[in-house]
Parts: sequence; structure tokens; C-alpha cells
Amino acid sequence: MSGSRILIKDGTLIDGTGREPAAGTAVLIENGVISATGTAAIRDAAHGPAVRTIDAGGQYVLPGLIDGHVHLSMVQGTPAGIRFPTSAEHCTLRAAQHLPTILRAGFTSVSVPGGKWFVDVTLREAVNTGMLEGPRIFAAGRALTPRGGIFSRHQPPWDQKLPDDMVGVLCNTLDDYITETRRQCAAGVNLIKIADSVWGDTQTVSRAEIAAVVDEAHRRGAKVTIHSRGSGTTRDAALAGVDWIFHADFATGDDLDAVAKAGIPIMPTFAQGEIWALHGNDVPQETKDRLKWQLDVNVASMQAAKARGIKLLIGTDSGNAPVMTIGKWHGYEAAFFVEHLGYSPLEVITIQTRDNATVMGLAGKLGTIEPGMIADVIVLDADPTKHIQILGDPAHVKTVIKDGREIDLGSQPETRGRLAA
Ligand SMILES: [Zn+2]
Repeated sequence: MSGSRILIKDGTLIDGTGREPAAGTAVLIENGVISATGTAAIRDAAHGPAVRTIDAGGQYVLPGLIDGHVHLSMVQGTPAGIRFPTSAEHCTLRAAQHLPTILRAGFTSVSVPGGKWFVDVTLREAVNTGMLEGPRIFAAGRALTPRGGIFSRHQPPWDQKLPDDMVGVLCNTLDDYITETRRQCAAGVNLIKIADSVWGDTQTVSRAEIAAVVDEAHRRGAKVTIHSRGSGTTRDAALAGVDWIFHADFATGDDLDAVAKAGIPIMPTFAQGEIWALHGNDVPQETKDRLKWQLDVNVASMQAAKARGIKLLIGTDSGNAPVMTIGKWHGYEAAFFVEHLGYSPLEVITIQTRDNATVMGLAGKLGTIEPGMIADVIVLDADPTKHIQILGDPAHVKTVIKDGREIDLGSQPETRGRLAA
């Protein structure tokens, strides 16, 4: 994508592999990939075409961060004067406003498990073709939701189809699941999202349905994930072979054994529960109380998951409510992992970069600073291994390079793209 050569020198390299930070380590970027690090980078930079040099003395060089759970088009405040706020045209433009804000926070990739219309597929293509500046996007379409699932209507008329500007699409039979998976794959999604019940009290989707989606999607090259807070759903999702599971609050030891045996990662996404509970001015008190209780349950189940060696991934659910302002909270989950699950800051940085590449479909190609890897690199002016809270804070992001190209942070107003309050 880019022919430019960039040498980042004298920074402390935190390479995303889990290796200890290495002071004074150079990184050379050529043709959109990391071509060399350390003394080899300095040596190679001295030959060949001109090199732009970034002096990172006193700063920290990391892989571009990955938020594994962002909704670009779920909650969209409507500016006054917009006549058709539910139109695909409006929804797409509104979602596009978020893109620079995410880059500015140091996040060069987002995995998007559900949105309106095919907004997120369109945004992905706009970014990939250079129409828009934005993070790399791994896009689902509308979430496949049975009656009683998180995105279905919870009041009559029960048999009404959900409109295209709703994030869920109703699937009530096995055929519905297969047909919708085929439709979305034909439209170019990277990911199929299945949505079980809100809190996980009821299992609304069967193992056979999940397995049918997995079979269909995998054959067509798409991944599958599921909103699954319940015990039975989590176990059935593991047995059906989804690619990763969201939440898993009520997973028992036996359920987690099934997840571990299948080698499936879990992305708990604590951030949205805690942020809603602490900062959601429009969230009813009874919902806040339930969120806090369920957060404790989920922390306990994820401690048990971690103890079993299950890979935990990091996402925030930014954009799923007005309080989940895109651009503001992307670093929140990493700090939560350190505080509640006993990971070190260095370990969560590795999860947020190398491990999270899984949910971009780019495991082994993205997320570390090693020769041959995609050149997504950020430079921070503070040490995230000492202060994990700085991850995602635009104030500390000095340089963002995506696909080997430096992003002009100065041209992006900080308030652009924020959801209307
Ligand atoms: Zn979500």
C-alpha cells in the first residue's frame, strides 16, 4: 500500500510478543511491513531510497492497538436537520465520522461484531481502498438473533421482521440461520455474529443452529462469534466450534473445560458493563445493579478460564450505547484485566496486539513488531508497562503508522465523530 520508508529510532520497543521492553531499539518500515529491527534496521536504512526518520528518544514504540469489540454503527445520535436517520446513507456517513477518532487513540484495528445494514463492510472497503482514513476493520453484518435474543424485539408484534437499520436480524429456524449466513457472506462480511439472550438466563439459540452457522460461514471463509453469557450457550458454542466467545459469564467448570478443549478464546468485554454501571446517566438503577452483580460473576468465571489456560482477548464494546463514546474507552479493558485478572501490563499489551490479531483474521501477520509483520506501529510518550491506563489516551499518542503509512494526527479534530450525548 505504501512505498515510503520510515525509520523509528532510539525508542523503547515493546514489540507485542511479550518480550521485555528494549530501550534504544530501531524499527525500519518498508513497503507496508516491518522490514528490520535493532542494528539491522539502522544498517538497512543507510542504503536504498530516502528514509523518513522519526526520533522516538524517551518514547515507547508499540504495535498498533486492536480493540476486539467495537460497534461503529450501533448507536447513532441524529444531528438536527437529518430527515432520514435510519437510511443506509445516513448510517454510513455517521459511522464514518468515528474512524479518525479511533486512529487518534492509537488503535489501528477494530473488530466489529454487528451493525446496521452493511455499513461496516462498506466502511472497511472505503478504508482499504483509501477513500477514507481509518483503522483496519473486520466487519460483521447484522447479528443473527432468535426470538428472545439480545437484538430481537421484546414486545409484540412478535412475528414482525426487524428493519435493516436494526443491529439484529431475526432468525427463528435452522433455515433462517443458514440463509442469513449465506446472504451476509455474499455481501462480504468477515464475521457472523450470533446473539443469545441479554443476560444469559435463557438459552435462546441451539447447538444445532450454532453449528449450522459455523459450517456455512467457515466454508465461505468467514469467522463466527456469539454473544453468550449463559452456561449452556457457552458450552454449545464451544462444541459447535465458533471462533471466539463473548462474555461467558455463567460458564461452569465443565463448560470452561469444553472451551479449553476446543481451544477457543473468550473475550469477556468487562468494560461495557463497568462503564454503563459507573457512567451511564440514562441507565436505570436496576440495570446498573444487575450489571455490577454480573460483572463480579464474569470476573470469577474469567479467573477460572485463565487458570485453565484459555486465551482471553480484549474488547470494549465501544459504540454500543451513548455512554460508550467511540474514541474514549478503547484502553479501558486492558487496565481492567490488570486490576481484576492479575495480568501484568506487559501481558495485556501482548493480548491487545498479538493475540487480538485473531479477531482481525490476521493472527501471525499483525500485532507484533518483527520482520515481515504488517507495519501498524504507534509511538507513545509514556510507558504503558508502568501506567497501563495511558493506553488509548490520545494525549499520549505521538505517532500512528498504519500499513506503513504515517497518519496525520494534526488534521483530526479531537471531538469529531463523538456520539451526540
Ligand atoms: Zn457488542
